[in-house]
Amino acid sequence: MAINVINKLCPENHRCPMVRACPKGAIAQEGYLAPIIDSSKCVECMICVNNCPYGAFEK
Ligand code: SF4
Repeated sequence: MAINVINKLCPENHRCPMVRACPKGAIAQEGYLAPIIDSSKCVECMICVNNCPYGAFEK
């Protein structure tokens, strides 16, 4: 299992608040594109899944 980003749920022109919320620095965002998760850093703590205001992270 892994954490995935549901790109279609990410609003355009928005800074993903989960980049800073992730305790492992596993989420990166280039410009305003949908964020990307580095699965080698992710420990599946669920913080992004439980806190993204758009529900755009899923396990
Ligand atoms: S599950 Fe936790 S460690 Fe993995 S990307 Fe989300 S916030 Fe970061």
